[in-house]
Amino acid sequence: MRREPAADLGQASNPTDAEALLRDYGCRATRSRVAVLEALLSHDGPIGAAELTELAQAREPSIHEATVYRTIGVLSELGLVNHVHAGHGPSLVRLATNNDLVAVCQDCGKIADVPAAAVAPLIDAVKEDSGFVLEPGHFALEAVCATCLKLR
Ligand SMILES: [Zn+2]
Ligand SMILES: [Zn+2]
Repeated sequence: MRREPAADLGQASNPTDAEALLRDYGCRATRSRVAVLEALLSHDGPIGAAELTELAQAREPSIHEATVYRTIGVLSELGLVNHVHAGHGPSLVRLATNNDLVAVCQDCGKIADVPAAAVAPLIDAVKEDSGFVLEPGHFALEAVCATCLKLR
């Protein structure tokens, strides 16, 4: 009788999660892919590629920046990773399981989640008014965070 794969992950921690995830998606678990995915799993929410590179290099010091960027592309094609545009800078990378709408502070670039329930009435109202169904998530809403608001 074959055991469920999950049963073998009994004493596993994050590294094995990343490896298992890559294999689930039919992707070879190279050290750089594991390092990038681990870094992303350990980070909560969207992250810039430069910051993700630093996190990945903390796990795998030999990983080159160009490899991280290439790996992000591979993980995106696999559907493990997506991105959100937050302000004028480069887009932010995140796990594809996270499609939430975020707000970005125009002054400091800080990101906050926007609860789906908060935008639901807006989606309903726009649909009723124009027939358009808003699909928020790919672009962040422009905002000013509480800290920056005090400085204005
Ligand atoms: Zn995009
Ligand atoms: Zn701010």
